[in-house]
Amino acid sequence: MGDGKNALGWIKATPQNLGDKNIGFKQHGGFELFNTKAQFDNCNESVFYLNKKAKEYIGRKNVYTSVNSKIKSFGFKTVKGMILNSEEGQIDTSKMFNSLLQLAQKENISILNGIEISKITDTKKGVELQSNLGVFKSEKVVVAVNGFAKELLKIKDVEPARAQVLITKPIQNLKLKGTFHYDEGFYYFRNIDNRILFGGGRNLDLKGETTTQIAVTPKIQNQLETLLKTVIIPNQKFEIGHRWAGIMGVGTEKKPIIKHYSPNVVCAVRMGGMGVAIGSLVGKEAAKLIAD
Ligand SMILES: Cc1cc2nc3c(=O)[nH]c(=O)nc-3n(C[C@H](O)[C@H](O)[C@H](O)COP(=O)(O)OP(=O)(O)OC[C@H]3O[C@@H](n4cnc5c(N)ncnc54)[C@H](O)[C@@H]3O)c2cc1C
Repeated sequence: MGDGKNALGWIKATPQNLGDKNIGFKQHGGFELFNTKAQFDNCNESVFYLNKKAKEYIGRKNVYTSVNSKIKSFGFKTVKGMILNSEEGQIDTSKMFNSLLQLAQKENISILNGIEISKITDTKKGVELQSNLGVFKSEKVVVAVNGFAKELLKIKDVEPARAQVLITKPIQNLKLKGTFHYDEGFYYFRNIDNRILFGGGRNLDLKGETTTQIAVTPKIQNQLETLLKTVIIPNQKFEIGHRWAGIMGVGTEKKPIIKHYSPNVVCAVRMGGMGVAIGSLVGKEAAKLIAD
């Protein structure tokens, strides 16, 4: 899911080191949906340029193509144009998480959950982490709390950005397959087998969604349901299986902050709603910085 700035999706940068199978990677492509012909024409004009850039960066030809003929076969209503990014894929995040845990265990890395850090003090003798379970000491620390960074580290240019989601119960004869971006990236949906995972709508209440409170609101959840009924699966009955929210970290630049906070503390935050895609690279850079 994006923050509205990532129209046309992003090109694959998955956690390669775990292996495609272990993260359930499927390259069904990513589709950008346009509400008006004018919006479509405007973006379609950039396809030539984007393909040139994609060829330069990843060596693949014709990554972006207009695929308006597919609108009907997916069953969408009111969609006036569609552009495919053939390199975009989807992963199973719980598979990725489990694979990461297994890798950590294999490397003898301890993971302690459920501990809240309230203060970080870098001293000449090392770093002290004040927590709800007492004080932890470490030679070096990497802080990777993303959207919570402003609270813990008082870093200025990171704001929490809540993203609300729902998932439908299984839908018979579901036609859509792939990942889809709608309304300039403010909405994102994908199939998970024969269910739809759908999130977004932060732009309906940007102030209210600038929060670290993990909760859903009727305003946004109702809009997600409305779009399911009117645009995405207008002719199919569906029921909602589950609703939830998560916190992203955004700022004025769509670039992560990976830098020394103090001599023995590095922060790696502000994933801009792309942390699943770029997290492993950010982790590598942060590790290198703290080791140096
Ligand atoms: C609904 C939703 C959909 C998304 N979809 C995509 C997508 O399609 N593609 C993509 O690339 N990215 C997506 N993202 C973004 C992605 O999930 C995040 O960028 C990524 O999870 C960031 O990882 P992280 O480890 O940096 O931070 P997080 O996953 O946010 O982890 C930070 C952790 O720090 C903990 N923490 C915070 N403060 C403290 C403290 N004081 N003490 C101790 N622990 C603390 C938090 O509890 C949390 O567990 C999505 C996000 C959401 C919410």
